[in-house]
Amino acid sequence: MAQQTLEVTQATTLKEKPDAATLEFGKHFSDHMFMMNYTSEEGWHHPRIVPYQPLTMDPSAMVFHYGQTVFEGLKAYRSSDGHVRLFRPEENFRRLNQSCDRLCIPTVNEEAMLDYLKEYVKLDKEWIPSEPGTSLYIRPFIISTEPTLDVSPSRTYTLMIILSPVGSFYKGGIDPVSIFVEDEFTRAAPGGTGNAKTAGNYSGAYKAQNRAAGHQKAQVLWLDGVEKRYIEEVGSMNVFFKIDGEIHTPALNGSILEGITRKSVIELLESEGMPVRERKISIDEIIAANESGSLQEVFGTGTAAVISPVGGLEYKDRDYVINNGEMGETASWLHETLVGIQTGELDDPFGWSVV
Ligand code: PMP
Repeated sequence: MAQQTLEVTQATTLKEKPDAATLEFGKHFSDHMFMMNYTSEEGWHHPRIVPYQPLTMDPSAMVFHYGQTVFEGLKAYRSSDGHVRLFRPEENFRRLNQSCDRLCIPTVNEEAMLDYLKEYVKLDKEWIPSEPGTSLYIRPFIISTEPTLDVSPSRTYTLMIILSPVGSFYKGGIDPVSIFVEDEFTRAAPGGTGNAKTAGNYSGAYKAQNRAAGHQKAQVLWLDGVEKRYIEEVGSMNVFFKIDGEIHTPALNGSILEGITRKSVIELLESEGMPVRERKISIDEIIAANESGSLQEVFGTGTAAVISPVGGLEYKDRDYVINNGEMGETASWLHETLVGIQTGELDDPFGWSVV
């Protein structure tokens, strides 16, 4: 797909912006949306920005039946100097294509997508809140649209991007969460779709999420899909452990999503002379390290919360307290540094921000 002319149809009436102090995740959407279509004959074509509006679709459209769909999530930040920054957006389009490949969806031109996104965010920039901790969440997604119940890859697709202003993840300051170690349901299996951002991975997690909530736990700690012994992720985040001063994280194995925050944390720690050990980590090892006092910190990483410290976990009907339920120094430093780079308050030696 060569880059094509982006057509822009401006909304004639603009919506009222929500109060930035009470923003909830993913409840409000900006004035416009980005769209592009795919057919076997034309490839990806007709990139356009149109007023935000409902879709008209055939009930037989394949996405409704077999879930051939992928999505991404990234953020735009407004800094105090008024500039708008996207955090490593090229990584999101790279991962979108990785997900497309796994779901047999035709890949997109990553550079063209970034150019379209920049134009789109520029047009709706008034929707980027400026209060500390707030941002504009960007949701690119692709749906299969061919009207048939045939169980095979669709021959037509629509790619869309929508924008949603989101509030601070930590309204009352950073509070470590408690997590539930799920040893019945699994999120992903070897050879499955765990490392793709596709709808079924998320709806398939609700049952475990409900169980964790029933135990007053904020997130699920996912174990591997074979032995239910090795740690994979926490909720929709990657997970890190500090044991005896060293940082460890589960190695990418095909069933773990390759988080962009995960990658940034590894690069950041390495640049500080703190190499991260990517390896298989069993839940028994973590429980034993906690019992012996060598487990110093546990934290999740992801676009939504950036760094989410874990203060406790429940495994096989027992509750364990981690680091006295407090946020550790590594998690604190990572949070401050990453947020600083994302918002432009700190230098960006890695060139991660796209201004
Ligand atoms: N794991 C899963 C399953 C996720 O959905 C996400 C969010 N994209 C992550 C990890 C964290 O990825 P990132 O740092 O790119 O947001």
